[in-house]
Amino acid sequence: MTEKYSGILIFAEQKDKTIHKVVFELLSEGRKLAEQLGVGVYCALLGPGGIDAKELIYRGADAVYYVEDDEIFNMPDELAYSENLVNLIKTIKPEICLIGATSLGRSIAPRVAAALETGLTADCTDLRIDDDGKLIQIRPAFSENILAHIVSDKMPQMATVRYKEFQESKPDFNRTGEIVSFNSIRPMDRTFEFIKELSRKETDISDSDVVVSVGAGIKNSEDIKMIYELAGLLKGTVGASRAVVENGFISREHQIGYSGNRVKPKLYFACAISGAAQHIAGMKDADTIIAINTDPSAPIFNIADYGIVGDIYEIVPMLIKRLKEINQN
Ligand SMILES: Cc1cc2nc3c(=O)[nH]c(=O)nc-3n(C[C@H](O)[C@H](O)[C@H](O)COP(=O)(O)OP(=O)(O)OC[C@H]3O[C@@H](n4cnc5c(N)ncnc54)[C@H](O)[C@@H]3O)c2cc1C
Repeated sequence: MTEKYSGILIFAEQKDKTIHKVVFELLSEGRKLAEQLGVGVYCALLGPGGIDAKELIYRGADAVYYVEDDEIFNMPDELAYSENLVNLIKTIKPEICLIGATSLGRSIAPRVAAALETGLTADCTDLRIDDDGKLIQIRPAFSENILAHIVSDKMPQMATVRYKEFQESKPDFNRTGEIVSFNSIRPMDRTFEFIKELSRKETDISDSDVVVSVGAGIKNSEDIKMIYELAGLLKGTVGASRAVVENGFISREHQIGYSGNRVKPKLYFACAISGAAQHIAGMKDADTIIAINTDPSAPIFNIADYGIVGDIYEIVPMLIKRLKEINQN
């Protein structure tokens, strides 16, 4: 390694000028790592003008590199984000680069790593520093049966980190830091054009207090309407097992689990979900779990706080009816 790399760079993802909460989680973890290494924590804020960059300083950044462009960052355009992030990383040369494992983060991180000819560990659940000052990137492997400890011999050491894995850093309004303007670059290889952005539910589901999830016991996409109705009455969001996504009944943003979204709601309904380890990985931290399943030996009952042995086609309409009665009174 001939060039000197130093500091921790966090991709400060924003949408509609609001910074994603995963960034505050990365800042709390990034600060701990930085203190062990004796280096600074920086944020790469790529977005239109008018974002409150100071919030990143209050939450733990020593400097924010603000790449401001009203035109190219008005949509989640992976090329614009990745090319600008690469440009910034080449200039400031951080030893560690952390990106939230959101839809955008999961899409840009491999592009950035490939452009920098470095490694990338996806979906980390823990990060540590070893005795040589290298980043240990920890993530579940083999369907969550082991925790792999991965160290990269390239710079920067890059990882995406799952949302809701760490506590958010609390704002300290006495913290000071620098906000540095950084010029944007236009993506060179423009082979497509963004026309409009379709709504993305991912953030809603991860932040939702109530998630009503449906599994392979649902017979067709039409029947998912009752799950939406139940979720609506509980002011919640609809989730699904991978089986339902693979059947094409619902889009992938709804998938809960190892290869989907991780949720920590106050209330989680598992409707006709068997409770495979890969599903449980995404919802086991819910405060209260209610499972409805026709099979009394379904593994989901092992982690459920309340179990209903029954058919969702009978139980869900009953719950809807009862909730409507309660709402009317
Ligand atoms: C690498 C890897 C990653 C994966 N990632 C994920 C992931 O992110 N999320 C995920 O969910 N899965 C994931 N899976 C798949 C996982 O292993 C399971 O196959 C999947 O979770 C099963 O979904 P299910 O519970 O809906 O279906 P099933 O296992 O088929 O279970 C359906 C359940 O519904 C019950 N049932 C049927 N009809 C009714 C009814 N009318 N009323 C009530 N109960 C009924 C049955 O008794 C059964 O328990 C992954 C697998 C691998 C190998």
